[in-house]
Amino acid sequence: MDCLFCKIISGEIPSKKVYEDEKVYAFYDIKPMAPVHVLIIPKNHLSSINDVNEDNSAVISHVYEVAAKLAKELGIAESGYRVVSNCGSDAGQTVFHLHFHLLGGQKLKVEMC
Ligand code: AMP
Ligand code: ZN
Repeated sequence: MDCLFCKIISGEIPSKKVYEDEKVYAFYDIKPMAPVHVLIIPKNHLSSINDVNEDNSAVISHVYEVAAKLAKELGIAESGYRVVSNCGSDAGQTVFHLHFHLLGGQKLKVEMC
């Protein structure tokens, strides 16, 4: 499959890895929008939240466990952070492999839309 993030997981395209286990891969966003901007992605390809169902949703809770762990390690757990997943064109999704942005290290804008 011609998917950028599947290629990052396989190592075909380089990335700055932050964390990896059997279910997820986390790496620094190439165009950071905050001092801390990490992407957490399931290793199994799902295109977006639209693909989440009762058979595969366990990985989502795991993503949030990893987000909490990385927030502590990256020093933003106490100051605060945001975890965001854009789904589809109105949300501005540009890479169609489900991913969660972990953003922090500065006061983030309050506006959500
Ligand atoms: P979204 O707009 O929610 O689909 O987010 C996609 C994100 O992937 C953007 O923040 C991009 O900066 C990021 N991105 C695109 N290509 C790469 C890459 N090769 N390595 C790291 N991050 C990337
Ligand atoms: Zn993929």
